[in-house]
Amino acid sequence: MTQPASYPGICNICGTKGEFIRGEGRSVRESFACPGCRAALRYRDQAALIVDEFARGRAIFLRNLVSSGMLNELAIFEAALRGPFVNAFKGLKGYVQTYFWPDRPLGEIGADGVRNEDLTRLTLPANSFDLVITSDVMEHLYDIRSAFSEIARVLKPGGVHIFSIPNDWPFPERTEPRVALVDGVEEHIKPARHHVSGDGTPCLVYYDYGADIVDIIAEFNCHTQVVRRHSPLDPCYVNATFVSRKIR
Ligand SMILES: [Zn+2]
Repeated sequence: MTQPASYPGICNICGTKGEFIRGEGRSVRESFACPGCRAALRYRDQAALIVDEFARGRAIFLRNLVSSGMLNELAIFEAALRGPFVNAFKGLKGYVQTYFWPDRPLGEIGADGVRNEDLTRLTLPANSFDLVITSDVMEHLYDIRSAFSEIARVLKPGGVHIFSIPNDWPFPERTEPRVALVDGVEEHIKPARHHVSGDGTPCLVYYDYGADIVDIIAEFNCHTQVVRRHSPLDPCYVNATFVSRKIR
């Protein structure tokens, strides 16, 4: 199957209209950068779902959604050091930005305003967020059930966790661990794979997710949609974005 080298589009983050070029990215989801803000396809798909959820039909890209004031009363929690959502939301009063530094006290807020949080044991209050955002984070956790449970706990009833994880097409049926912990020691079930984390250091991938992620998250009272936002466009359907809503 031949892939298009580019397609005309509009960015769901900055609103730039133009030609989105495949480029030399490692995968489709990391490619087709916005000609304006350079955001990759996976971020733009995720942004589109945030807009769909909160714009009430009155914005088609994130920058307009923020400037419209429609997010001003929302509580948003994002686990990221940087990225397009940090840039877009940093000025909102209800935005809590977190990152995990194992050697610092949990719940501590640094000089940069970033709060230290472990997704598997959050110090944040229950039922407090309208939106939780993670972008290619959940595959780097060993204890995924604790993490999904904690995210569900801090979401308000009806709130959403809108997230990305690396995913293949076809999407495998089952989630598979890449690493086992044996007596506290990591043993590799599959060859070690690393991504670059927010602070630039290598970060081990613990899971290859599959379609049963929907069932795993359902254990924690959340209903999950797996959205292939770019599905009409070959080959962009290969990227899926996940929307988990806490059931009221
Ligand atoms: Zn853009």
